[in-house]
Parts: sequence; C-alpha cells; structure tokens
Amino acid sequence: MFSNLSDKLEKALHILKGHGKITEVNVADTLKEVRRALLDADVNFKIAKDFTTSVKEKAMGQNVLTSLQPGQLMVKLVKDELTELMGGEEVGINLSGNPSVILMSGLQGSGKTTFSGKLANFLKTKKGKKPLLVACDIYRPAAINQLHVVGDQIGVEVYSEPENKNAVDIAQNAIKYAKSNGFNVVIVDTAGRLAIDEQMMNEIANVHKAIQPQETLFVVDAMTGQDAVNTAKAFNDRLNFDGVILTKLDGDTRGGAAITIKSVVNKPIKFIGTGEKMEAIDVFYPSRMADRILG
Ligand code: GDP
Repeated sequence: MFSNLSDKLEKALHILKGHGKITEVNVADTLKEVRRALLDADVNFKIAKDFTTSVKEKAMGQNVLTSLQPGQLMVKLVKDELTELMGGEEVGINLSGNPSVILMSGLQGSGKTTFSGKLANFLKTKKGKKPLLVACDIYRPAAINQLHVVGDQIGVEVYSEPENKNAVDIAQNAIKYAKSNGFNVVIVDTAGRLAIDEQMMNEIANVHKAIQPQETLFVVDAMTGQDAVNTAKAFNDRLNFDGVILTKLDGDTRGGAAITIKSVVNKPIKFIGTGEKMEAIDVFYPSRMADRILG
C-alpha cells in the first residue's frame, strides 16, 4: 500500500536525518521533496502546498533547528500533519436506530456490494448485530444475484424484490420486513453507474429521503486517485453523506485519495477495504495510516 509514496517520503526525510547540523535550507529542501512526493501520490497541488507550509510553520515554531533530534521532530511533524489531514480521530458508524439503516452509495465497480457484505459480516461477528442486506439495484439482475451470493457466504439474509422496479418501494418494504423479523441493522445496496448521471443521483436521493438512514456511506475505489475525490464531491453535494469507504487499498494505490478526501468533502473515512474476501475490512485509523505511509 502506498509503497511509492512511502519510499519518497523516506528519502525526503532521510536528507534531514543524515545531517548533524540542520539549516533552514535543509528544512526547505526536505519540505520541497515532501511536497513532490505528495504530488506524485496524486495529492492536489493546493493541499500539498498547504501541507508543507503548515509543517514548516510548526517546525519553525518548535525551533526545529536547535532541537536535539531535528530529524525525529520533522518526522513527527509530518506524521501529525498527515494524521490531521486524514481526519485526526477515527469515527465509528451510527448504529442508534432500531433498526439502524445504512445506505450504500457509489459508482458501479467501486466495491459497494462487496463492502455491504463485509460490513454485514463485521457487524454480525464483531458487534453481535443481526443485519439484513437489501438488494436495491433495479437495473442489473446480476447485482441482485451477487448480493445473494455474498449473503450466503456470510450467513446473512438478503431481501430482494426482483420484479419490483421501484427502489424506494423496495427499501421501505425491506425496513418493514426488518422490523417485523427482528433485524437490528439494514444495509441497503443501491445501483451504481460507471459515471455520475442524473438519473442515478435522483434515484439514490429519493431513496435517501424516503428511508432517512442513520448512515449514508459513500464507497470509492482508492485506485482512482483524484477521480475518487471528485466523485466523492459530487455524491456529497447531493447526499450529504456521513462517511467514506475506501476500497482496494490492497492494490498499490498512490495514496492521493486516502490523504485528501477528508479535507475536500469534510467527511471522515470510516472503513477501508483491503481485499476481495469478506474479512478484508478495517476500521480507518488516521494515525495508523500515517504510520504506515511513513514506514
Ligand atoms: P459494485 O459494483 O460497486 O457493487 O462493486 P463490487 O462489489 O461488485 O466490486 C467490484 C470488483 O472489485 C469485484 O471484483 C470485487 O471483488 C472487487 N473488490 C471490491 N472491494 C475490493 C477490495 O477492497 N480489494 C480488491 N482487491 N478488490 C475489491
């Protein structure tokens, strides 16, 4: 994960670690390299620039030049700044409803259906919940089947109405079904498209309005870099979602999406997907991610 970014940051900070005496020039050079590493990781220019400006101010404020271990201090400042940029503290999901309704949104192929299964499995096995999965894709029968396969795999019931072409109806019926059958979490998997289109946005906005979920999660493929950030922005403008799920972090992604999505949409990343298996789900901890990035 992020191996290229990690290597470049390691090299950038190495400059400082290697010097006995550190000058303002060394700090400036290091930060220039840090900025370049961020840009190469597909972090947008303004965020990368603000990042290094902020680290520089803090470094000067903490007298980095006269500190005992200037290299260590710089690494810490970069780590803290990365953690902050990715959201600071981890943020859990709201399970206060009865049932708690979770609406999944995102483009086709982002990993929505897979993640719906992973989340159901996580809530069942780690939180002792009784989840119901709901297939709300009214366009692709294959998507409904896929959710049934996932449900069978993890032993979670899947609600679907293959003949019904009204997504709002299906979602509402599913919630009624959950209430009368003792399910305490309802995870609604919706239809995605290959690109943002008005019909998809209207449909999910209607479902959102009708079922008023406790959590609306936006699922996005981390491999898509700045496109991921732009798509997040479009969905957030429409749905004002509660959190982001970043999938496919097991591939060698460049890191830009993970690092910048929080600051662009001001919504936390809540979970990450790290593989195709149902167990490949992790809570997103910004500081642990910063540790991994810095190696
Ligand atoms: P949807 O169209 O948004 O529902 O996406 P799917 O859940 O069908 O996922 C699309 C493809 O991505 C499938 O082949 C999944 O197995 C794969 N996928 C989903 N999440 C991950 C992940 O975290 N890592 C990897 N490597 N593949 C994933």
